[in-house]
Amino acid sequence: MIQFAKCCPNIIRLIETFKNDSALCAQNLGVENVLSQFKSICGNEGVSVGEAVREQHGRDESMHKCRPPDAVVFPRCVEEVSALAKLCHIFNVPMIPFGTGTGLEGGVGALEGGVCFSLRNMDKIVDVHVEDMDVTVEPGVTRKMLNTYLRDTGLWFPVDPGADASLCGMAATSASGTNAVRYGTMRENVLNLEVVLADGTIIQTAGKGRRPRKTAAGYNLTNLFVGSEGTLGIITKTTLRLYGIPEAVVSAVCTFPSVQAAVDSTVQILQSGVPIARIEFLDDVMVDACNRYSSLSYPVKPTLFLEFHGSEDSLKEQVKVTEDITQTSGGSNFHWAQDAETRNHLWAARHNAWYAALALRPGCQAYSTDVCVPLSHLPQIIVETKEDLIKSNLTGPIAGHVGDGNFHCIMVVDPNDKDELNRLHSFTDRLARRALALDGTCTGEHGVGLGKMYLLPEELGCHTVHVMQSIKHTLDPKNLMNPGKVLLPFSRESQQG
Ligand SMILES: Cc1cc2nc3c(=O)[nH]c(=O)nc-3n(C[C@H](O)[C@H](O)[C@H](O)COP(=O)(O)OP(=O)(O)OC[C@H]3O[C@@H](n4cnc5c(N)ncnc54)[C@H](O)[C@@H]3O)c2cc1C
Repeated sequence: MIQFAKCCPNIIRLIETFKNDSALCAQNLGVENVLSQFKSICGNEGVSVGEAVREQHGRDESMHKCRPPDAVVFPRCVEEVSALAKLCHIFNVPMIPFGTGTGLEGGVGALEGGVCFSLRNMDKIVDVHVEDMDVTVEPGVTRKMLNTYLRDTGLWFPVDPGADASLCGMAATSASGTNAVRYGTMRENVLNLEVVLADGTIIQTAGKGRRPRKTAAGYNLTNLFVGSEGTLGIITKTTLRLYGIPEAVVSAVCTFPSVQAAVDSTVQILQSGVPIARIEFLDDVMVDACNRYSSLSYPVKPTLFLEFHGSEDSLKEQVKVTEDITQTSGGSNFHWAQDAETRNHLWAARHNAWYAALALRPGCQAYSTDVCVPLSHLPQIIVETKEDLIKSNLTGPIAGHVGDGNFHCIMVVDPNDKDELNRLHSFTDRLARRALALDGTCTGEHGVGLGKMYLLPEELGCHTVHVMQSIKHTLDPKNLMNPGKVLLPFSRESQQG
């Protein structure tokens, strides 16, 4: 607060004045009336109402329509975030946190206008504790920035959603990705969060400066905010677990006669206790797309990409067990790769899946939807989904984090073809409901955002959703934090069912 008070001497007094003026508080004065106050908090260059900047912050990587905010603010420290939030709270201005905009469910759109909090200027790596293997970062730090910084320490942060997302955005969406089968998702890797609540209060979910590997102290507020998609508060710091960079890494590709055979192998590999680091599934359409895009020649069949981390000796054992299992399931065309260059070449195909899918239909747009089911149901849902794609006359290659029962359909559609868009929406709806019918979830990692709100009561049950609405109402009674996402607002009627 001292640092903030120095740079903005008047604003604290200003906020206190507003706080005590009930007539002012009762009015919804709109964004334009608070712009000058915003500027006195984060400087002229820290506030933008330019059309291009607002457009840039009103959309993510999904096909959801751009919904620009009325203004974008670029705070430099948590005190500025808190002061801005206090003003928004007093003047009833919606607040939408923005990381890097790589989300896939329309989470950053300003449905009710308001102010986008772009957190890119808060990009400090605050603390690295090498011996404890943890790090605390601000919200402008992306996962690639962190791993580059950590390189000389022998440590790394493994959660990898493909895109170079901000780590606090990843916490906000409970992101995961290719390494989750071994290292877990953001839920397992966040130790503490600093959050600015809707009224500007700053909290640390596990206590100030605390970073124990485990805790049994009170409610798990850290995991309440992980996956809250900006609807409960603005994450201004996250403390993360780190891991030792593995001594050796081996990657492999293997093709299978059927989806069932590929998934059977996955289950057996996991059951045999092989600590596999990545096990990724690509269907025949995705392999074909990757072959064309990356000039490769993998057989156009269901395929697993695998990666093993460990010591040289342990890798030999892991690789042997895996090879035996996959061969028993009819796996063939093994390509093993140990040196970094060959491994990178091999994984480039998987990492470029999004662009490979897009290249199948030049001029079209990609829309990725994800579901997650218990592993044993994966073959059934993938087979049924592929049949549905053919019947619906849609292009949607499938890539999946198969070790977690999680997969994506990367739908490639013509945004100007209304009939195709209707078929797309019906298809994604059926896909989500298929996952629910198989004891799964409508989203394993992309989140609910805008597109999957209506599925939440079906997945969780009305009483559970009411508990969530009550929590939201307690933390954000004015419904200012990213309104219109994840949950419908709390109401007495909905509480009574
Ligand atoms: C090619 C591609 C591949 C992808 N693959 C995966 C994948 O495999 N796994 C996966 O999990 N995701 C994947 N994603 C999705 C995306 O990268 C993740 O959802 C990521 O976590 C979003 O982070 P971000 O910083 O870009 O957040 P944004 O897009 O900026 O925001 C996403 C949501 O989080 C909120 N938010 C952002 N920052 C904060 C903050 N500091 N405090 C509070 N709320 C905040 C926003 O309001 C919004 O609701 C992929 C995306 C692309 C483009």
